[in-house]
Amino acid sequence: MIATNPGHATTTIDEQAFLSKVQDFVTSYVLPNTREWENDRLPDDIFKRCSEIGLLGMTVPVVDGGHWVSCSAYCDACRILAQGDPALSMNIAAINALCLGHLVKLTTPEQKSKYLAPAVRGELELAWGLTEPDAGSDARRVQTKATPIAGRPGYFHLNGQKMFITNGGRADLIIIIARVDEKNLSAFLMETDQPGFRLGPRIPTIGVKASWTSQFEMTDAVAWHTPCTFEEAISFLGRGRLAIAAMALGIAEKAHALTVDYATRREQFNRRLCDMQSVQNMIADSETEIEAARLLVQKGAAMFDRGEDVTKAASMAKLFASETSNRVTNRAIQIHGGRGMTFEHLVEKLWRDAKLTEIGEGCSEIQRMVIAKQVVNERATKA
Ligand SMILES: Cc1cc2nc3c(=O)[nH]c(=O)nc-3n(C[C@H](O)[C@H](O)[C@H](O)COP(=O)(O)OP(=O)(O)OC[C@H]3O[C@@H](n4cnc5c(N)ncnc54)[C@H](O)[C@@H]3O)c2cc1C
Repeated sequence: MIATNPGHATTTIDEQAFLSKVQDFVTSYVLPNTREWENDRLPDDIFKRCSEIGLLGMTVPVVDGGHWVSCSAYCDACRILAQGDPALSMNIAAINALCLGHLVKLTTPEQKSKYLAPAVRGELELAWGLTEPDAGSDARRVQTKATPIAGRPGYFHLNGQKMFITNGGRADLIIIIARVDEKNLSAFLMETDQPGFRLGPRIPTIGVKASWTSQFEMTDAVAWHTPCTFEEAISFLGRGRLAIAAMALGIAEKAHALTVDYATRREQFNRRLCDMQSVQNMIADSETEIEAARLLVQKGAAMFDRGEDVTKAASMAKLFASETSNRVTNRAIQIHGGRGMTFEHLVEKLWRDAKLTEIGEGCSEIQRMVIAKQVVNERATKA
């Protein structure tokens, strides 16, 4: 049965029940712990807890043991999680879209039966490794080399380095994008419990600090080939970018709500901040931009659910929502004044966390490039 979730995309009654569980989880567990996690890392059992309420396996069909939900519900879950802890939202977004999406669509039946069920239960932790020290926005520059292992069909040795990999320090299995020859790249499943995998020091970041952002080296690391092209391997970025847009939206919503409350309580010059026109302008701009970002995320998710190409829609949603999130959190600090710069208020954390959304899964400049290319192609097709 379909029901309209006011202010959000169309979701089923079952999905709404799932989203209220996510909301309860955020209110009772995530939000009270977000500061503590930031000083250390996400707790060891976090993915098992997420799995229990269906947050792992949102992109995995029920027949494969998953908790499949529409892209609209998946984005909404990432949005709600970001209101509690953006680092958790980022991990759940990436694991579902990029890692589980890959295991569902691009693995052999043998690979799927080995890895998918424990991954959905949160027992097998996952990461997705594309970025390298010399291959960031220009992903086709990947240098990690995959060489077939003689006498072991389907198995390759990987040699190279990866950088900025979310959850890489905890992952049991990493999906690695590597070069098979001068022209072609493909994807491989690499278990981390092996001598060829050497984890480097955790990379400290200014935001999403609870996430274990990692770097590692592979020296003849054994990996299992998932037969796919580079384009297929990165095709999951469509749904991934929509989820990062939803994460940005959740951050902006939270910062805005805290700010409106604060502006209503705080008085200077014998009146509330929210009665001063300059503050009202900031509140109005944030409200309007958040609404526009929400509509872009909903539109992209609904297009995905209808099976349409979301290349342009996902980039537009991510570009606008991430820049909105940065503007809104910046205004949030401004309206909180000096207190906004202290650890007493969550807005400073949200401001730091928001930055990731303009960089991860393709920086804003790349999103603009993708959008412009699509526009020109659409024009050429019509002409
Ligand atoms: C916390 C965090 C988590 C991450 N998680 C993962 C992960 O799980 N897996 C993974 O594979 N990667 C991950 N990344 C990497 C992320 O996707 C890259 O940082 C991002 O794609 C940008 O690449 P880069 O950092 O090498 O920047 P560069 O590619 O060096 O770009 C630097 C800047 O140059 C500009 N620029 C680059 N290219 C262009 C262009 N064509 N036109 C105009 N301007 C341009 C942009 O301003 C850009 O921000 C993560 C990064 C962070 C910070």
